Amino acid sequence: MTGHSPSDAPRAAEIAAGLTEVRERIDRACAQAGRPAGSVRLVVVTKTFPSTDIRLLHDLGCVEIAENKDQEARQKSADLEGLTPPMRWHMIGQVQRNKARAVATWADVVESVDRLALAQALSAGAVAAGRSIDVLMQVSLDPEPADSRGGVRPADIPALASSVARLPGLILRGVMGIAPYPGDPDRAFRTLETVAARLVAEVPGADVISAGMSGDLEHAIRHGATQVRVGGAVLGKRANVR
Ligand SMILES: *Cc1c(COP(=O)(O)O)cnc(C)c1O
Repeated sequence: MTGHSPSDAPRAAEIAAGLTEVRERIDRACAQAGRPAGSVRLVVVTKTFPSTDIRLLHDLGCVEIAENKDQEARQKSADLEGLTPPMRWHMIGQVQRNKARAVATWADVVESVDRLALAQALSAGAVAAGRSIDVLMQVSLDPEPADSRGGVRPADIPALASSVARLPGLILRGVMGIAPYPGDPDRAFRTLETVAARLVAEVPGADVISAGMSGDLEHAIRHGATQVRVGGAVLGKRANVR
């Protein structure tokens, strides 16, 4: 499973071009926000794309990869085992409690922790697997109380944080948010920034703000994102929407 066939070349060029463009957007947004270049980490969202694309990303220096479905991610991480430097796999999709143990076997970061029961199940899975998993709490940024994208209401974050921070096998690193679409991304990311500031005062070191996707990463960087999750702008259109 090493090396590439000559037919990889056009796809490699396509991905390299997408990456260059996204890295330039990130650098520009950092400059405009008065933030140092390199202060925002790029996580490439590879859901629905094949393992061969992830291998090409690795060749291009991307090791932070995000997936949203347990089974698909587990298969891909098995396909790509043993790469140097190793991939860092992020789970960004909603996790059902009965999948938590499986997720704990492959995920290095779970960004979508939205309830204590899930955190407890991930903790048990991490301990059983002898692993340590970074977690982010997903904050609901929807104006409506009935949120469609999942996530914890901002008011409930402190209580969840103090419980999660005590669980073995998990390291609480910060927050993740998805701006409502359609909606006002600046308003959403401002909320997330406020929640993040409160969190880091309680849990020093939990300073990650995962926010911004292909369509709104500039807004997120303006509001303190330390990590963006970008799929389409690097890899092209996904075959099916999810
Ligand atoms: C799919 C997805 C992304 C990436 O979206 P793009 O618009 O392709 O950049 C980011 N975050 C989450 C949670 C996603 O599900």
